[in-house]
Amino acid sequence: MVKLPIYMDNHATTPVDPRVLEAMLPYFNGRFGNAASRNHSFGWEAEEAVDKARTSIAAIIGAKPKEIIFTSGATESDNLAIKGVVEFYKEKGNHVITCVTEHKAVLDSCRALERQGRATVTYLPVDRYGMVDPDDVRRAITDRTVLITIMWANNEIGTIHPVAEIGRIAREKGILFHCDAVQAIGKVPVDAEAAGIDLMSLTAHKIYGPKGVGALYVRSKAPRARLSPIIDGGGHERGMRSGTLNVPGIVGFGAACETAAHEMAEEAQRMTDLRSRLHAGICERLDDVHLNGHPTQRLPGNLNLSFAYVEGESLLMGINDVAVSSGSACTSATLEPSYVIRALGVSDELAHSSIRFGLGRFNTAEEVDYVTERVVKEVRRLREMSPLYEMAKEGIDLKSFQWKAQ
Ligand code: PLP
Repeated sequence: MVKLPIYMDNHATTPVDPRVLEAMLPYFNGRFGNAASRNHSFGWEAEEAVDKARTSIAAIIGAKPKEIIFTSGATESDNLAIKGVVEFYKEKGNHVITCVTEHKAVLDSCRALERQGRATVTYLPVDRYGMVDPDDVRRAITDRTVLITIMWANNEIGTIHPVAEIGRIAREKGILFHCDAVQAIGKVPVDAEAAGIDLMSLTAHKIYGPKGVGALYVRSKAPRARLSPIIDGGGHERGMRSGTLNVPGIVGFGAACETAAHEMAEEAQRMTDLRSRLHAGICERLDDVHLNGHPTQRLPGNLNLSFAYVEGESLLMGINDVAVSSGSACTSATLEPSYVIRALGVSDELAHSSIRFGLGRFNTAEEVDYVTERVVKEVRRLREMSPLYEMAKEGIDLKSFQWKAQ
């Protein structure tokens, strides 16, 4: 028997791995020192733990420990990278290139800069799989461009962008490249050097570490990336991010990276297999199911499906012992279809009917089978109540159908 409820929303967050928790615990009480206390053993012990974690985090992206700047999470890292670079290089230019499917932490940082008149921003489109075209990046570059910010992998549809190609273009043109790699690290190989990335946002809670701790990778040479801090204070983290370090969180982040580095290859294969099982199980039994995102260039644990004639929200409510996400943002008062799915060029109806399954380390084949069963049953039930589904099955073309005016 599977244990309910089932958690299958691992792009939103992940549970803390028991090995990570164990590594963190001593730093809450016994080893509680401030890593910036230079004059006693409590401080040294904390600093040593932070240094060890810094090394593990740097290793997972092929960076040097001193290039890791700790933050409160990727939202802060994205803000720091974008606002910090625009401020530092304001004499050089003020143009930023990004893409319409970025996370809100990137898009809203860009919008804030535009509102304040500090930057002009180009929002590149994506193709039907959610991928940005490197040629579009090249064409968007002007002599005022100071930053390109494109994510490694999308948090909703799992599509992996051609980051290395974008990195090559950025390098060729002498423009800094920031990459939000939150969803990619620990899931697929990430190498900042090989991909030509100058700044990279990371967070612990998507890789079985704790919430509220993240990092920004800042390239130290060839070229050195510079930025202005967005938080003023004691000058921690080489002046780029003031504030007492979250030592237990950082230790957890380091442990999460070590575990992920060790298990990534095996885990990626297992996630891919589970995802195929889920996808095949659903598609064998239901018609009119559409895959959102790239068929192959996608995160191993991501499956985003649109179930035509079914409201994603109704489906979610119907399978309330399973934690997945719908493509509608319930953060606002109105139920807007996801801007990411919309950017793929699909209809609002299909965007409204999308569900994101986020498989993770602790999901099992039995859970996948249970979720398949629940989804199939619920979609069938909802479609039985849908006059539109019935009409479509009768061969009526809903697009050209003339509805009678009231
Ligand atoms: N960027 C991406 C792609 C994400 O998926 C998330 C997670 O919500 C964030 C940034 C924000 O990260 P955090 O929760 O650490 O602020």
